[in-house]
Amino acid sequence: MTDGSVEDRAPEPASTQLRVWALIALLAGAATFLQTVVLTDVGILPSGQPRFWLLLAAGFVVAELCVVHLTVKQEAISFAFAEVPWVLGLFLVAPEDLISARIAGGAAVLIWHRRQSAVKLAFNLAQFWLGAVAAMAVWRVALGGAELFSMRSWLAAAASAIVIEMVAALAITAVITLRSTRSDAPRLALTLALGTGTAASAANACFALIALDVIRMDWRGLWAVVVLAAFLFLAQRAHVTLLRRHDAMEGLHTFTRRVGSTDLHLEAVAHEVLTGVRELLEVETVVLHLTTPAASWTCDSTGISPYAPPETLPTPSSGSRRARGQQVQALTVLLHGDTEPVGALTVSGRLGEVGGLQLADLRLLEAAAGHAAVGLHNARLADQLRAQAAANEHQALHDALTGLPNRLLFDRVSTAVLADHPQAAVLLLDLDRFKEVNDTLGHAAGDAVLRVVGERLRHLLVDAACVARLGGDEFAVVLAGAGPEAAQDCARRIATALSTPVAVLGVTLAVDASIGVALASGYGGDVADLLRQADVAMYEAKGLHGGIAVYSPDRDHNSAQRLSLAADLRAGIANGELVLAYQPKAHTADGAVHSVEALVRWQSPVRGMVPPDEFIGVAEQTGLIGPLTEWVLVTALAQCRRWLDAGLELSVAVNLSPRTLHDPAFVTRLGVLLDQAGVPAAWLILEVTEGALMSDPERAVEVLWQLRRAGVRLSIDDLGVGYSSLTYLKRLPVQEVKIDRSFVTRMVDDADDEAIVAAVVQLAHRLGMTVVAEGVEDERTWVRLRQLGADAAQGYWLSRPVPAAEIAPWLQRWSAGGSAVSVPRMRSVPSLGA
Ligand code: C2E
Ligand code: CA
Ligand code: CA
Repeated sequence: MTDGSVEDRAPEPASTQLRVWALIALLAGAATFLQTVVLTDVGILPSGQPRFWLLLAAGFVVAELCVVHLTVKQEAISFAFAEVPWVLGLFLVAPEDLISARIAGGAAVLIWHRRQSAVKLAFNLAQFWLGAVAAMAVWRVALGGAELFSMRSWLAAAASAIVIEMVAALAITAVITLRSTRSDAPRLALTLALGTGTAASAANACFALIALDVIRMDWRGLWAVVVLAAFLFLAQRAHVTLLRRHDAMEGLHTFTRRVGSTDLHLEAVAHEVLTGVRELLEVETVVLHLTTPAASWTCDSTGISPYAPPETLPTPSSGSRRARGQQVQALTVLLHGDTEPVGALTVSGRLGEVGGLQLADLRLLEAAAGHAAVGLHNARLADQLRAQAAANEHQALHDALTGLPNRLLFDRVSTAVLADHPQAAVLLLDLDRFKEVNDTLGHAAGDAVLRVVGERLRHLLVDAACVARLGGDEFAVVLAGAGPEAAQDCARRIATALSTPVAVLGVTLAVDASIGVALASGYGGDVADLLRQADVAMYEAKGLHGGIAVYSPDRDHNSAQRLSLAADLRAGIANGELVLAYQPKAHTADGAVHSVEALVRWQSPVRGMVPPDEFIGVAEQTGLIGPLTEWVLVTALAQCRRWLDAGLELSVAVNLSPRTLHDPAFVTRLGVLLDQAGVPAAWLILEVTEGALMSDPERAVEVLWQLRRAGVRLSIDDLGVGYSSLTYLKRLPVQEVKIDRSFVTRMVDDADDEAIVAAVVQLAHRLGMTVVAEGVEDERTWVRLRQLGADAAQGYWLSRPVPAAEIAPWLQRWSAGGSAVSVPRMRSVPSLGA
């Protein structure tokens, strides 16, 4: 083999092109120099023996056509048998004829058969030329003055043939170095060209010498030489084919290892498949389509890039209809899954090599696709497992309803924040009256409210380290690096954001939250501590009516006690530890008793008898007032029913907490309770404090009207301790006012108190209301109240609050002795008016 030539491949940058042209100029320059300076007697044009010249040129054409192509690292190198005509030419024709025939024969094949581009053609012709003149020079020098047919001339011819090969090898190495990005490409090309090339060209030269001798002895013996030549050519071809197969097997093995060795990520495996197939089949472009998940990539000399996935997979190339040796530009194979194709691989643009893609390539591609399908399948499974694991992890750390982090994640994040920041704040927020939403509008509405709140917090607090739903209507926020101002500012922003009403199931609800703030700076506690402090502050905030409170250690003791009280009370209500005491109200005019007030007591097994003043407030702050009031109503109404059944016509008065008046469902619920108890609404008196009316007068007045229309009697409790002006009373649909005992108890000794009582009585009467005086502790007060015109009285002097069972016996005693006792006593205080 004497010559190699370089084939076309993908376009390359202009700078590389320029360097290749410089190389061509260098080769041509060297050839010109050798021909004009060293071979002074050799002309550029043929000498004028057209018959021999044509024969030789034809010989070079045949030699170039019987070429064996090899691809070295994406660069095709073609080995031809040009040594044979060359060596023959040395002995048979003039030097200029040999050189020009060499160039002309080579050019003819490159132009018409291989259709090489200008740069390729120029390169190959330049290196042909340089090789030819160099070989000619070596031939001349090696031959010296020796005979044309001698031992020396044979060696000189062989040396000359080797020079052609070496020049070609060096030139190709140079051009590969210029064009290839691989650092080992030139070394590989050089080894290949010099190693196998020089040995083969020496052998080819020897073969030509034998042919020459045969021609000299008897040219008719040439047929034997031709047969031998054909055999050698075929043997060489077979060898190259074998080499190729071996290469393919090795390539496939490498490919399988590559695809199997990546960590099981679909994209990583896909990338290995793309680059692996590109290298294995030595093609310009590889496209991989996958159906599940739909994804496509293309891989070419510029790298791997995503690609628009096709609607349907491309049609695979058919191997059966492909004739041996038939060549195409592109091949497609399907990647088979368990039941149906899961993707397709398309390769196109054979790199470097002259021909296109063949049957052998299809088989190789199919084999690679088989391995690729398995690798991709495994990767997909692994991806799914990972996604599942991630989803599980997400589920374990997030609240399903709002999508916010849950308590677990909040703890984790907060712990990290506390470890990293000297300052941090935890905000705990609890929605006000959320239970009422749930109870009245149903859980769907409650969930909707929670979702809206979650969404608002998420949008508002993008800078917070964590916004979590801890459970129920409780949310928590941790702020990294926040001091007192930043934390309170954040709490205010939350309150503002939540104050926009929420539309749920066609109802517009005002969502308020109580926010407790705990600061980490200088404390050094853990997340649990901070959360507990925020909790204490939050309960305090509830007392501030929808406000914000910052934790302070001074109030903590008290708050902690209240918290534990709330917990006990919750259990107490459930365990039936509450009892009712009843206190009668009697008419001052005739001592008649028409009603009793129900007063709750908590008979705690741990705390003993707890008076309502100690737990009503806590119940109001912790949402327990709802169940508590319901229990009192149910119990009191049942008792009322029993008295009615026993012939005792006693109304019961039940105290309402201010919060109950703001419960949108209360009126409806009360109707149900009255029905269930079988007690007409007129037998129920609801006592409402002034404070309850003041916090949201519009709403309160509306609810009072609803209750009034339902037939319930209404009473203003503790009148006088509130801040309302008395004229305000006229707007209220109430039938009764109860003068607070702080005015009543000492009225006989305190002229101011008495004046107030007298004024209230007059005003109430003018407004058509009856007046009850509470806190009557002695007969003097009782008598004086009758003189002032108060309608009824209640107090220790008449009776302390007593269990229901004691009411009937008391009534008997009262009506038996009441007038008898009271009249003389009344007389014994004659000077009151004076
Ligand atoms: P209130 O509605 O003003 O109830 C009257 C309170 O005055 C009762 O205290 C009663 O025992 C007390 N009292 C009655 N006569 C006299 C007297 O002559 N002198 C003095 N010094 N006190 C007298 P109690 O039972 O401790 O209740 C305290 C407060 O607790 C009640 O004041 C009421 O506001 C609240 N409360 C009681 N039961 C309930 C209830 O079921 N629900 C609600 N929301 N609050 C209740
Ligand atoms: Ca009361
Ligand atoms: Ca009262």
